[in-house]
Amino acid sequence: MKTTPDRRTFIRNVILGGFSLYLPACKNSPKEIKQEPTSAIDTIENIEKTVETIDEYFKSEQVVLLRKADEQYTNLNIGFNKRVPKNPKIIALCKNVKGISEAIKYAKFFKLQVCIKSGGHSFEGFSSNDGGMCINLSLLKDIEWINEETVKLGSGVILKEVYNALLPKGKIIPSGSCAGVGVAGLTLGGGYGLFSRAYGLTCDSLKELTMVDGEGNILSVKSDDELMWACRGGGNGNFGVISDMTFRVHQAPKIFTRHLFKAKNITQEKAISLLKDWFNITAQLPNSCFGAYVLNHNDLTVLVTDIDDKTEEIRTVLEGFGEKMDSANIGRKETDIPRALRRYYGIQTPLFFKNACAGLYNGFGDIENCIESVVEQVFNNRGLIYQVNTLGGNIQNPEFEKASAYPHRAYPYLSELQAYYDKPERKASLLAAFQEIQETFTNNGLSAHYRNYPDINFENWQSAYYGKNYARLQKIKGKYDPDNVIWHPQSIRLVSK
Ligand SMILES: Cc1cc2nc3c(=O)[nH]c(=O)nc-3n(C[C@H](O)[C@H](O)[C@H](O)COP(=O)(O)OP(=O)(O)OC[C@H]3O[C@@H](n4cnc5c(N)ncnc54)[C@H](O)[C@@H]3O)c2cc1C
Repeated sequence: MKTTPDRRTFIRNVILGGFSLYLPACKNSPKEIKQEPTSAIDTIENIEKTVETIDEYFKSEQVVLLRKADEQYTNLNIGFNKRVPKNPKIIALCKNVKGISEAIKYAKFFKLQVCIKSGGHSFEGFSSNDGGMCINLSLLKDIEWINEETVKLGSGVILKEVYNALLPKGKIIPSGSCAGVGVAGLTLGGGYGLFSRAYGLTCDSLKELTMVDGEGNILSVKSDDELMWACRGGGNGNFGVISDMTFRVHQAPKIFTRHLFKAKNITQEKAISLLKDWFNITAQLPNSCFGAYVLNHNDLTVLVTDIDDKTEEIRTVLEGFGEKMDSANIGRKETDIPRALRRYYGIQTPLFFKNACAGLYNGFGDIENCIESVVEQVFNNRGLIYQVNTLGGNIQNPEFEKASAYPHRAYPYLSELQAYYDKPERKASLLAAFQEIQETFTNNGLSAHYRNYPDINFENWQSAYYGKNYARLQKIKGKYDPDNVIWHPQSIRLVSK
């Protein structure tokens, strides 16, 4: 005789994977659904009335479900950006990939929206939410060498730990420089830094990964899968939870050279003229170099780094520039690479700030009509920083382009806007100036932005981050997360059926 399971058994079975789930074929038409997160707090609370604790429904060795009253919740709930605090109903502290799968099935059953936290450095706090479930991956710290050229990293690994593990073996992956940034969040959005012009974006070295999709299925994803294409630049909190990533590693440099220029209290005209010079200089740099122009109020710092000891060539390119600055420290060489990289680790304790992409450029011509008004705002608002970084080089490798969803390879420059305030009373005016600058850029035709530098105020974030790849990413979303369980304010949206 066929028996119907009681509700509790049913719930337990669903949550713990007793029912097999299948992936429906993707039947999307290109119309986008406007989706808001579903709230199931009522449902969960009604169920809670019938049992002493939620754990009666959910017993797992692989994941700990934490609520506000739990001791660990407060610490785990801290994100790097204190401007965007969130309060998820449940933090799912996962011990392994099975734990992630169980947490997703739990969230799906209770209709909790899921967000994912690896390093917690999202500019807009997209790795947490209010009232949903935050999958916390901070325990997934495994670093496993598959062979001398390949390393597998758990999604809880942060960049400092990557460098600590790889540099003693004379290896690197071309990632960012700030110590606390998560390798997972960085790679899934692209990932650039001091080594990118030489080796490509971080996602270009990604070979394999494990993902738990929006249904709780554990998937092993290989290099040529469509899903791998999507996760190289389009995978932040969209299709599932990546639990580990396998990377091809590269030879670490033997020598690291820094060329550093500073000028204080400059005029607005000079800031613009030096920016023009900087674009000319960086257009001639070899691929072993990275360059940054950093305008902090009325102080300017210009940095050029090199990982291939091309000092003489670079000196020629830089000729005359140092004389326009107050100080020029050219050709400082370091052979202690860990020490050289630690200079760029940055602050590791959470801060109040707003950072965002301020456009990807081809060169000075893209901003010449609006740069005066941007520089004026930066000068008038202490706490604002306008920065332009070099991309280009091997990031533009056509093979990398084909294999990834990162759509902006043609742009050799990436700019960012930053606002830091430790006093709350500074917040409103700084953010207003920030927004005004963003609008100035938009009104002047800058529309491409880096997904890892998101801004909640971007109206057309879909095309800004993903360009023509957005529709393809939507199909992949429909395949792996058809019920839109994985959600944040700028996650890939499903298309209507
Ligand atoms: C101080 C600082 C320095 C930075 N420096 C650089 C830099 O040099 N180069 C650069 O390219 N970027 C840099 N960034 C941007 C950085 O790449 C992004 O903020 C990145 O998303 C952070 O990853 P995370 O794991 O720390 O963040 P989280 O806040 O944990 O996650 C960020 C996003 O990725 C998603 N996500 C995280 N983990 C997973 C996962 N396992 N599976 C699926 N989705 C996931 C989340 O949904 C969220 O949308 C910097 C950011 C900060 C704050």
